[in-house]
Amino acid sequence: MIPTLLPTYARAPMSFVKGEGSWLVEADGRRFLDLGAGIAVNALGHAHPALVAALTEQAGALWHTSNLYQIPKQQELADKLTELTFADTVFFTNSGTEACELAVKMARKYWYEKGQPEKTDILTFSGSFHGRSSAGIAAAGSEKMTKGFGPLLPGFVHLEFGDHDALTAVITETTGAILIEPVQGEGGMRPVPDQCLKGLRDLCDERGLLLIFDEVQCGVGRTGKLFAHEWAGISPDIMMVAKGIGGGFPIGAVLASEEAASGMTLGTHGSTYGGNPLGCAVGCAVLDHVADPAFLDGVNRKAGLLRQKLEGLVAAHPDVFEGVRGSGLMLGLKCKAANVDIVQAGYAQQILTVPAADNVIRLLPPLTIEDSEIAEAVERLEAAARQLSAA
Ligand SMILES: *Cc1c(COP(=O)(O)O)cnc(C)c1O
Repeated sequence: MIPTLLPTYARAPMSFVKGEGSWLVEADGRRFLDLGAGIAVNALGHAHPALVAALTEQAGALWHTSNLYQIPKQQELADKLTELTFADTVFFTNSGTEACELAVKMARKYWYEKGQPEKTDILTFSGSFHGRSSAGIAAAGSEKMTKGFGPLLPGFVHLEFGDHDALTAVITETTGAILIEPVQGEGGMRPVPDQCLKGLRDLCDERGLLLIFDEVQCGVGRTGKLFAHEWAGISPDIMMVAKGIGGGFPIGAVLASEEAASGMTLGTHGSTYGGNPLGCAVGCAVLDHVADPAFLDGVNRKAGLLRQKLEGLVAAHPDVFEGVRGSGLMLGLKCKAANVDIVQAGYAQQILTVPAADNVIRLLPPLTIEDSEIAEAVERLEAAARQLSAA
């Protein structure tokens, strides 16, 4: 008999009932150090007082009105985001993959309105992840995500990650945009080098293409800048955001320049819930914390500390680990043992990590993690590695 929950997830056998900062409390009382943060979502940890206050205050006043009316909190969050980024305009969604849907629609509509409706193709890269909607899986294109779900949305051209020659060769008069994660998350914590992001920007400028960044996982302070592409000193035309922006409340966004957004006129897109007062109240509170330069300095300092300790861990356990990769507090341990076994061994040590492709385990702690918790985390990973070596 089919379980009453559709069996699409391989869930670990823990049921958490409470969260406090970097910790999750299991129903049986055990405390787990959370280095997954709900897959880079709980940017300010669990039950951050400012987020609890923002949500409960809004919950007591008004939950939902739809986009038939003005939503002051939505306007406030859009103003903050445009103030802090390259973007001139924002559309709010409820998730990352809905942001992907709009990014694709926006790029195609842009060329349509420019009188070049043939420019529908979007270049994407192996190992990428853009969510599980029909556009998201077609964009990523991996067999694992797309098999059996055809016919897929056409118009995506898939390239090998890092293959510069293929990239320039494949651009034709039907190419409209390039879509890329500045740091691949699901694909195994693979940063795109700054000079390559710059190169992509130059290429898009030369060939007249839109550059779309998917910062759903690497954005909102995760790499030590508010958005990861800032390290390269360039900007996209369109950017997808979700995960961290809601700190655990479901909200996503598409940010765009005025030019790139110019096709999205009255009536061309919509969402019942998108930009709902609850999500936007929380989003404003998250941004107020994360966009503070002192907060981002702290992320960079903590990232250095964690990375240094992880290098030590890898050196001490060359039979289990191969290396450290990633950016900021978006770090990956490339494994020699099976990544899922290490994640599993971590559960016994009451530490939570997340597997990724390429036999990597992801470390995505709350950006608020304390130094003592970083030390504790690496001790627990060390214990997990010892346990695996002994087995
Ligand atoms: C998680 C993720 C998505 C999809 O977000 P959902 O909220 O799960 O739909 C898209 N892109 C990237 C880079 C992600 O990490």
